[in-house]
Amino acid sequence: MHKLLLFDIDGTLLRCGPQVRPLFLDALEAVFGVCDSLEGFDFSGRTDPSIVLELVKSTGQTEESILLRLPEVRQRYLANLETGLERRRMQLLPGVVHLLQRLIGRQDMLLGLLTGNWQQGASIKLSRFDLNRYFRFGAFGDDAIERRELVPVAMRRAADLRGDNFRPEDVLIIGDTLRDIDCAHAAGIACLAVATGFTKAEHLKAAGAEWVFNDLEEAAQAMDIFAP
Ligand SMILES: [Mg+2]
Repeated sequence: MHKLLLFDIDGTLLRCGPQVRPLFLDALEAVFGVCDSLEGFDFSGRTDPSIVLELVKSTGQTEESILLRLPEVRQRYLANLETGLERRRMQLLPGVVHLLQRLIGRQDMLLGLLTGNWQQGASIKLSRFDLNRYFRFGAFGDDAIERRELVPVAMRRAADLRGDNFRPEDVLIIGDTLRDIDCAHAAGIACLAVATGFTKAEHLKAAGAEWVFNDLEEAAQAMDIFAP
């Protein structure tokens, strides 16, 4: 039985659609003058700071100078997101509320977030569907640049809440990209992958996810993965 469940957000719980790219691009342009259209850039599974680093480094700026101005990008992007992110252009993915409702009622389960979004961005996205109330803690793009580094952060925060450590075998990471699978396995944790993002089920299977479902509705029907 998995006692600690760590959920990704984009492509797993919800989809924002194409509306976020211009909000991100505006923040990059305002701070760095980057004018790349971001067309074709693969955001999936990356942390927000790693997206900034990757995109701005290609313009020839050093990592140090980019990191120095990262807070400005974050501030501008989060302001854009707060005012610009429209629920009507988003999609709440199938089975999400039903599954979270069932899990939140269990005393033996702890639900957290493991997402590359900056914390406030995660909260803004989840707020559009009133999902913040299901998650007591998380690890975010504020905590690390590489997704793998978010796992120990989430484990530590979960342990603080519980007053005891979780063993990797008691944890399940739920996500939609190869990077979710990678960060789980790097920590000896199993991954439940859903094909509600941009990665096809066959690729998630080939990457070694322990469970692959079309969506969380289908996953919830195999409820004993989460809890017997
Ligand atoms: Mg995702």
